[in-house]
Amino acid sequence: MRLAIGGVSLDRVVESEMPTLDPFEIYPDARAADIESNLSWLAPRFYDPRSRLLILAFQGFVLRTRGKTVLVDTCVGDCKPRRRALFNDQRWGWLDRLDAAGFAPEDIDVVVCTHFHVDHVGWNTRLVDGRWVPTFPKARYLFAQAEWDYWWSEQGRPARERAGDYVLDSVLPVVEAGLVDFIEMDRAITDEVRCLPAAGHTPGLLCIDIRSGGERAILASDVLHTPLQCRFPHWSTRSCADPDHSRRTRLAFLEAWADSGVLVLPAHFPSPSAGTIERDRDAYRFRYAGEADAF
Ligand SMILES: [Zn+2]
Repeated sequence: MRLAIGGVSLDRVVESEMPTLDPFEIYPDARAADIESNLSWLAPRFYDPRSRLLILAFQGFVLRTRGKTVLVDTCVGDCKPRRRALFNDQRWGWLDRLDAAGFAPEDIDVVVCTHFHVDHVGWNTRLVDGRWVPTFPKARYLFAQAEWDYWWSEQGRPARERAGDYVLDSVLPVVEAGLVDFIEMDRAITDEVRCLPAAGHTPGLLCIDIRSGGERAILASDVLHTPLQCRFPHWSTRSCADPDHSRRTRLAFLEAWADSGVLVLPAHFPSPSAGTIERDRDAYRFRYAGEADAF
């Protein structure tokens, strides 16, 4: 699916979209009654009642801006050894879908990872003759310095090792190949596209702010994981590095963009992922672009 934000084109390239996460695993604050009382809108689009799992998309976003091709987030990846079965040793074939969208690996000029979680860095590298090599050989990879620093810290290192150490196979090889620029969190990529600091879920988490021709869209990364966090904006996830900071960032994000008409694309919202945030009494709703119902 291709969107246009002024002169910027945006393609979503989905790696997977299916029931994946137990709501009570991802949200420690969730109670059974919270899910039951919202089932009428959660199922079947956002929640599969049979497996009792939330439906999440895993995807990368390709922007064309000022002659540059920018890939934001690189999903889970193929052949990666991971602790969680959903991510372990998969064969998603995502590069074929990138190709079908019109992009070869050599076409990518810039790769931005919004943060270093296992589902946002995977295709940074691919397995060739038993070695992890950069998938996008002509790209500059932009990584927030704060994010890099955190995952090597006393707090960050055990968290990544628990997931199966994706930094070693999906981040370090592109650093060693000399393809990485460590950036400040408000870095401009072009005059139409810039990073927006949104620390909390992780210390270097970036949103991507697209402004062109009087239009605006924000790639919201993991500030929100599902529309449940519009209804329950105080819910942080079990994978938030700092749940309180994550909560403050999410509340500020929702407050800033509610009723603004700005298009918001959270990384994991089911297709087509793009919509606007609306105030709803003391919480919020998400209205998919061009749809009548809000969730
Ligand atoms: Zn994620």
